Amino acid sequence: MELVIASNNINKIKEIKNILGDFFENVYSLKDIGLDVDVEETGKTFFENAMIKAKTICQLTNKVALADDSGLRVDFLNGGPGVYSARYAGEEHDDEKNIDKLLLTMEKTIDRKANFTSTIVVYYPNGNYVSADGVVYGEITTERQGTNGFGYDPIFFSYELNKTFGQASDQEKNKVSHRGKALEKIRELLSK
Ligand code: IMP
Repeated sequence: MELVIASNNINKIKEIKNILGDFFENVYSLKDIGLDVDVEETGKTFFENAMIKAKTICQLTNKVALADDSGLRVDFLNGGPGVYSARYAGEEHDDEKNIDKLLLTMEKTIDRKANFTSTIVVYYPNGNYVSADGVVYGEITTERQGTNGFGYDPIFFSYELNKTFGQASDQEKNKVSHRGKALEKIRELLSK
């Protein structure tokens, strides 16, 4: 079976290939198959966005397509930035600006609990799909710690790892991460 990952995020692609790679004959990124599309995430939930991305890429390629939609949910922000995590700092957003905005917003906040959530949809050309969620719990640090990973990794202290994702190796992060957990559930569903 061949799988297309509906993403251009190299970190996510690496994480997905690491966990599901042995399960498929070939795993392609959008770049691998020369597809230059950026599917607009118009959904209000992680599931809606993952579904939009997986279905669109499946229909464009006629191959099984996997999409992840994920984000950071902070208790103090009532679950925000959530589906808006990538765009948290506004128009000119990037990982550094998003982190700076969150640290500033939470400067005087004692309640720093947060979680990363990932929803994965695997969509088949015949219209069937499977989906799974994964969550990892932790806290937002008061400053950056470590430089590994991407996104909010340097300021997410994982309770399970007892360090930030920015301080963790890829393998350590994959074992406990939201995406890692959702992917393990997908493996189980696919092997049924
Ligand atoms: P998506 O690509 O639309 O799913 O947006 C996900 C956004 O949430 C990313 O741009 C990051 O800001 C954040 N995010 C999701 N997963 C992670 C992770 O594993 N580490 C750090 N940030 C993440």
